[in-house]
Amino acid sequence: MISLMSKCFLLILAMTGECMAKSIVAYGAQSKADTISQMTIERREVTPSDISIDIMYCGICHSDIHQVNNDWGRAIYPIVPGHEIIGEVTNIGNQVTKFKVGDIVGVGVMVGSCGNCGSCTDNLEQYCEKGFISTYSSEDPQHGGVTYGGYSENIVVDEKFVLHVPTNLALNAVAPLLCAGITTYSPLRNWKVKPGDTVGIIGLGGLGHMGVKFAKAMGANVVMITSSTNKAEDAKSLGADAVIISKNPEDMKNNANKFDILLNTVPVSHDLNPYLSLLKRDGTMILVGAIEPFKSGELNGVKLIVGRKSLAGSLIGGLQETQEMLDFCGENNILPDVEMITASEINNAYKRMLNNDVKYRFVIDFTKK
Ligand code: NAP
Ligand code: ZN
Repeated sequence: MISLMSKCFLLILAMTGECMAKSIVAYGAQSKADTISQMTIERREVTPSDISIDIMYCGICHSDIHQVNNDWGRAIYPIVPGHEIIGEVTNIGNQVTKFKVGDIVGVGVMVGSCGNCGSCTDNLEQYCEKGFISTYSSEDPQHGGVTYGGYSENIVVDEKFVLHVPTNLALNAVAPLLCAGITTYSPLRNWKVKPGDTVGIIGLGGLGHMGVKFAKAMGANVVMITSSTNKAEDAKSLGADAVIISKNPEDMKNNANKFDILLNTVPVSHDLNPYLSLLKRDGTMILVGAIEPFKSGELNGVKLIVGRKSLAGSLIGGLQETQEMLDFCGENNILPDVEMITASEINNAYKRMLNNDVKYRFVIDFTKK
């Protein structure tokens, strides 16, 4: 009798289209350092302020690898990575005002924050004092359960955390802007990079190549500081005015005291001291490479004291600034260099990224089955 009643109830819900979570295909890891494989996850039905997005493209960030390997000690398994998402709006809640069905939209690293703290009210949701809700591997106090990211067919997100995508840009290449783009744009803006400044980008990967493009577009003299001799030509074609090979002590010595800003994207623990020597008086090195805990040995304080230098960090960017960055890319025709793959190639892409073999961002194409 109960089972007949519940069947009727489910039938009514299905007919009215209400309150039904949706099972979808996703790609993720079941446990630490597991390979990525196909799985089924559930997406909630849209709430009044939600948007349902059918995912077309999702970039692969080095943070995805850190999280699958639990490098930061806070992964929740199973984990479905992916926070560089582009897709089409397929359903909207009845209070949504910013988007309509058929719009092409983006979702980045955040899907929620408290909305009330000083950081949230300053449009800096990434520094939410209660901790923002990550697009994946985050407890979701607002909707329950754990978040699953963009290596999947569909995602449901509150409209506040959804971005408009400029219509003139190639959509497959836009995806990495949602993390690699904003993570490099935000510090360059915050530290007010301007024509005449000398900016060094350390590490030519997904973040680094966007750092070069943005610093160049902001009028700086841009220097690529790479550990890979074979990337020098690429760095110049991406916009770098000069290249330093960080493994070459002579090269490093010859460039001492030259830089206003260094943007450090290296994803592994390393000695910061040689880079601090490159800064001018009052220069700043900003860490965006996410190494935690930081195990780089002793920082030589004298390198900061002599020359009044600063060491700083920066985390993605707020929603308002992410929209500003997307619009800036639309106006200046700035796009990541991408290599398109299918979902079955994610494990190989991870291996290649760990072997420093990516030019310069992998993007998963979900439009090809
Ligand atoms: P990526 O594409 O793998 O690029 C990293 C680059 O760092 C490599 O291409 C390489 O450039 C350099 N590198 C790698 N291993 C190195 C080593 N052992 N010594 C020196 N240089 C090395 O990574 P990504 O996606 O750009 O991410 C970079 C880091 O930023 C990751 O830790 C990621 O988690 C973090 N991240 C932080 C934020 C944030 O908000 N702060 C946001 C996104 C990502 P060269 O060959 O030129 O040396
Ligand atoms: Zn990322």
